[in-house]
Formats: sequence, structure tokens, C-alpha cells
Amino acid sequence: MMRLPPFTYITPRTVTDAARALAEHGSAAMLVAGGTDLYPNMKRRQFEPRVLVGLRGIRELAGVRGSASTGLTIGATTTLSAVAEHTEVACEYEALATAAGLVSSPQLRNMGTLGGNLCVDTRCNYYNQSHAWRKAVGFCMKKDGDICLVAPGSPRCWAVTSSDTAPVLWSLGARVRLVGPGGERTIPVESLYRDDGIEYLTRRPDEILAEILLPPADGWKSVYLKLRRRGSFDFPVLGVAIAMRMDGEVVRDARIVLGAVASLPREARAANEALRGERLTPELIVRVADLAAGPSKPLDNTDYAHFYRKKMTRVFVERALRQLAGLEATA
Ligand SMILES: Cc1cc2nc3c(=O)[nH]c(=O)nc-3n(C[C@H](O)[C@H](O)[C@H](O)COP(=O)(O)OP(=O)(O)OC[C@H]3O[C@@H](n4cnc5c(N)ncnc54)[C@H](O)[C@@H]3O)c2cc1C
Ligand code: SF4
Repeated sequence: MMRLPPFTYITPRTVTDAARALAEHGSAAMLVAGGTDLYPNMKRRQFEPRVLVGLRGIRELAGVRGSASTGLTIGATTTLSAVAEHTEVACEYEALATAAGLVSSPQLRNMGTLGGNLCVDTRCNYYNQSHAWRKAVGFCMKKDGDICLVAPGSPRCWAVTSSDTAPVLWSLGARVRLVGPGGERTIPVESLYRDDGIEYLTRRPDEILAEILLPPADGWKSVYLKLRRRGSFDFPVLGVAIAMRMDGEVVRDARIVLGAVASLPREARAANEALRGERLTPELIVRVADLAAGPSKPLDNTDYAHFYRKKMTRVFVERALRQLAGLEATA
């Protein structure tokens, strides 16, 4: 049986106190929200914090406020189940409800939070293993070693972004509010991510992701499709998030964002450009799906062969666009 290492658990009641505790304990401390990713990772000794700063006791971090007409604010510790079941999210930001409802299993969605999902660790077949397994194979640079076992000549880690909600929130134009001991800042979701499997967030170590801010729904429709082997609880090995706004039959604006095909979510910018100002015909959908597969560059370090995941990017983008065009039944 894998056991948790010993640690001290701190329960601040305000975000300011939590930020102070992080600053005080420095690199010995980590934040924990639902713990559904962090605790298993600690059991595998992928993280060895001596202090955990628990966020669940901070009331101001939980719950959904606002409306679809003015924009919704979702507290970081709102559970994935609450997000998936929220009526306004489900009706007006459909892809977010879908993505939150497809994360792992019901038990983990009842504990796992939206903030934790945005900050969830990157994944790799050589890293998401027990300590004994990693020791036997030889540690890699993401923890305890100095080379990449997927690409031995590479100076960087290629572990894969595996959040279901990150590509969706990016496509919806969401922003996040980060609070640190020296103040706060609000940045677009896409600015939260960095193309590095180890330092995958731009969040400073003493900052807390406090809120997710969704813009007014304002006619945007959205869809999320997820590829994984076991539909009951696996992480995504491909996620396709599309948000689109129409002017009659013409696409006014569109954002296609791919998850789980690189160390950070990738926006398919050429595909988005090809959609703007055009009628969403079956021919255009095929062309756009081809363009959208361009930025999809999966490596051979998660489930399914990388060339299959690349091929499925085109297939999933086509399916998602057909759903938005009303040409295909929703999943
Ligand atoms: C079997 C299994 C299957 C899973 N399947 C999926 C899946 O399909 N899709 C998916 O996306 N995830 C999956 N997960 C991962 C996890 O359950 C979810 O990502 C969940 O949303 C994480 O939220 P949490 O609150 O439990 O985060 P925690 O485990 O508490 O934290 C995760 C990370 O985020 C940091 N963190 C948490 N909250 C904040 C905050 N407010 N500010 C700054 N940093 C913060 C923590 O320090 C930690 O590094 C799975 C996990 C397991 C064990
Ligand atoms: S991509 Fe390379 S360095 Fe990163 S976790 Fe995998 S084996 Fe380790």
C-alpha cells in the first residue's frame, strides 16, 4: 500500500492568510484544494511538501456568482460537480459543464475543484508511476533525475497538460484572479500556462488562484469532446474545445483550443481565422478540421499512439463543428 508522507496541515480562513502562509513556508509548502490529484502524487513521492495549506475552509473561494448576461464568477474551490450541475453554466457555457462533468469519476468530481483542475499537474507515462517503478527505470528530470526518458536528447520536459476544463475556459475567453502576499492580478486563462512540462504554470509560488471569471455569454455557443480509453474515469489524451458566435448563418467569431496534445493547451489560430466571416458548410468544416490538427503535436508519452491522437484531433474537431452547426447529434 502507498502511504502519504508526514506533513503539517494549515487551515487558513481567508485568502490573505493563505497567501501569507505560502510566503512564510516557501518551497516547503503547497496548496491543496480537493486533494484528488495532489494526494495520489504525494503517495508516489512526485511531490514532498512538508506543509500543506488547505483551501477548503476559505468561504470566499467557494460558489458561483453573477449571471450569464453580466458574466459569471466561479470561486476556485467550487467543486467540479457543482460546476457541471449549475443551471446557468449548463445552459450558457455548455462546454464548461460538459468538461467538468467528464473529469475522472463522480467521487472525485465531488471533491475536486475547478481551481485545482486548472492547476493540475502535467502527465507522462514515465512520471505517473510509483516511486519504486521510477527508481527501477531511472528517474527523469521532472522529479529526481536529470534527463527526459521520452526524448533523451531534449533539454526540456514534454509532460502533457491533462486538464479538461483548461482548453474550455481558454476558448470561452475566461480570466483568472490570482492573489499573492503583495497584491492581486487578473490574467487571461491562456496566460496562466507555459510550454514546459515542469514549470507549466506562470502562477508565482506564493499566489493563489482565487476566481475564474467568465465573460457574458453574449451569443457564444460551445462544445467539448474528450478522447480517453476508459469513459468512466480516465484523463483526456485529447480534448477539443470550441466556442463560436454566429451572425445568422455566418461565423462571427470562433476559438478552437486543443487539450492534452502538448505541455499547454494549444489554440488552433489558423483554423479560427478560416472560420471567421464564413458560412459553416460541411466543406468548410472539413478544411477547418485539417487546419486545426496542425498545432496538435502529441508525443509518445500518454495513452494511445501519438499518430492516432493526432489523427483523432481532425476527427474530433470535425465532429464538434458539426454539432455546433446542428449537423450532428450532441454527444
Ligand atoms: C483516477 C483519477 C482520474 C482523474 N481523471 C481526471 C480527468 O479525467 N480530467 C482531469 O482534468 N483531471 C483528472 N484527475 C485529476 C483531478 O482529480 C482533477 O484535475 C481535479 O480537478 C483536481 O482538483 P483538486 O481540487 O482535487 O486539486 P488538488 O489535488 O487539491 O490540487 C492539484 C494541484 O493544484 C494546486 N492547486 C489547487 N487549488 C489551487 C488554487 N486555488 N490555486 C493555486 N493552486 C492550486 C495544488 O497545489 C496542486 O498542485 C484525475 C485524478 C485521478 C486520481
Ligand atoms: S516528458 Fe521526459 S522529463 Fe517529462 S515527465 Fe516524461 S520522461 Fe520525464
